[in-house]
Amino acid sequence: MSMSMLGDILLVDLTNRKITKRPYTQELANQYIGCRGYNVALLWEMVPQGTDPLSPENVLIFGTGPLTGTSAPSSGRISITTKSPATNLYLKTNVGGAWGGEIRFAGYSYIVFTGKADQPVYLWIEDDKVEIRNAQHLWGKDVRATEHILQQETGYGDLKVACIGPAGENLVRFAAIMCSNYNAAARGGAGAVMGSKNLKAIAVRGTQPVEVAEPARFKELIDAAWELYHVQSGALNTHIYGTSGSLSAVNEMHILPTYNFQSGYFADANKISGEALVEQGYLKRRVGCYSCPMSCHRYSEVKKGKYAGSYTGGPEYETFSALGSGCGLSDIEAIIRANELCNIYGLDTISTGSVIQWAMECNQRELEFDRDGLNIAWGNADAVIKLIEKITYRQGFGNILADGVKRASEVMGQNSEDWAMQAKGLEQSRVETRSAYSYALAFMVNPRGPDHLMTETLAEFGMSPEMIDVIEKVTGDKKYATPYTTEKRPEIVRWHEDVYAITDALGLCAFTSTAQYYMTPKLMADLFSAAVGIPCREEKAMMLGKKIVAMERSFNTREGATRLDDRLPKRLMTEPLKDVNDRPNINSLEVMGPLLDRYYEMHGWDVASGRPTRKTLEEYGLKAWADELEKLGFLPC
Ligand code: SF4
Repeated sequence: MSMSMLGDILLVDLTNRKITKRPYTQELANQYIGCRGYNVALLWEMVPQGTDPLSPENVLIFGTGPLTGTSAPSSGRISITTKSPATNLYLKTNVGGAWGGEIRFAGYSYIVFTGKADQPVYLWIEDDKVEIRNAQHLWGKDVRATEHILQQETGYGDLKVACIGPAGENLVRFAAIMCSNYNAAARGGAGAVMGSKNLKAIAVRGTQPVEVAEPARFKELIDAAWELYHVQSGALNTHIYGTSGSLSAVNEMHILPTYNFQSGYFADANKISGEALVEQGYLKRRVGCYSCPMSCHRYSEVKKGKYAGSYTGGPEYETFSALGSGCGLSDIEAIIRANELCNIYGLDTISTGSVIQWAMECNQRELEFDRDGLNIAWGNADAVIKLIEKITYRQGFGNILADGVKRASEVMGQNSEDWAMQAKGLEQSRVETRSAYSYALAFMVNPRGPDHLMTETLAEFGMSPEMIDVIEKVTGDKKYATPYTTEKRPEIVRWHEDVYAITDALGLCAFTSTAQYYMTPKLMADLFSAAVGIPCREEKAMMLGKKIVAMERSFNTREGATRLDDRLPKRLMTEPLKDVNDRPNINSLEVMGPLLDRYYEMHGWDVASGRPTRKTLEEYGLKAWADELEKLGFLPC
């Protein structure tokens, strides 16, 4: 197997405008798989403890997996890793679309940016030609315009562009990196890190197919995977109605975050659902990421009325909840417009909605603050849209919101941190964890903060035969396929986090393995083996998943994080979910503490501090990591 089969690592020193290459070897793949796995190893090695995330000393790592860009289903995913300006902790943000595959077609597996350019630049990649180019003319441009200008300039109408919008340039702490006008590496502020480096875009054109070590075996496995995709349940509905096809059912269960998590029920939910998009004619087309049969994405447009001409990728479930029910907004056309603005400005829709609904609750409670001339009342579409602009350009009250809800509540005071829906500094994604205990635990221990895109534990809802089978496999009994119990939650979280880590590390979409559940750990181990040419059984793949999770924990440990950081937003831990008395309805420490104990025990981490032990790290071959933590006084005795 040639070295280049796994792609090269591009090291781009922006300060000195120096580009170097080295191979991503089988040996590295054997240790880290790829993508999310090797990303965290690089982050540990390159970012010293205490680094300011927005300083040149931070690094920005774009990692593909060994399956990215192959014919495996849903294999267009990459992970972007950096130190988060939202949390000052580890950040992995995953994104689909076609950009990741193109990087592999150009012959690369990683791009690692260090330093800071002295003026705006973009990286140009055309197969083996790589240049740092001037981007002065792109600075200030939105995502749609940036992509268009670069396609025009280069003459490649299908050029793949990852870029930031004005939000990233203005260092909004929840700015996204957009891989096309739709696919967002949204969470945790990676866009602000890119902006802090004066890096506007990475434009790539690749022309070579991705090679695998054992083509015949790989093809057999891929054929089996596509077959499995077609026989499993649930995919068709997601294809037809998208992720927002679940919104009405979630609302009926009284777990749709509404009015900043003050309620789990939105009376107008049927107006902002996936079904409404289709049935009322807003759906323009369904789209998928590279090599994805499910195509859960969609483009929506507004043809007439106040928002005529608006068109956007989405809205997804998370966006409908963040900018819709969370803000008390049921005007679907206004939500499409708000989603469009977030996409072209390069903002995370979840955090954007969270800061706006926090402000709306401040208004509801009649706090004293400068409203910047806006009527920040529940359901006011104009306020939502104006605030998105003010956040992007850091104008007036928007400047306070642009630093995220944790920092905004510190500025506001008046007890407003009580309804700031964040933990570790990240705004919680749109899952009502007070009635779903695997999710609650997974969100608490998530190294980047409370959200679903590190460890999705959908199976606890038992909504499909595949989900029930997974719960039986993991816990020994189907009866645990319910979100309303605390029993066996650590076991369910543990399995899902390992599987999620492998999925990310390979470059696959998590829908395949932790939502649809057809991509099993065994199948992923076989695909990895055939792609890379390394023997790998299910047990080894799961061990590598555990190792990745331990590495991420170690990074946060080195930054000083402990068990005390494994929390959910205060409201969820102290206020019961309203109108829900037929099942558990709070994430208090009394309820969650024993689950944390068991979770740390299962990891081989110290229960008192939540930190990895030497024994556990050495089992994963991470002795040097244990040594460094010990030197800093962070290794449990
Ligand atoms: S399932 Fe959806 S998010 Fe995942 S790869 Fe396919 S289109 Fe992209």
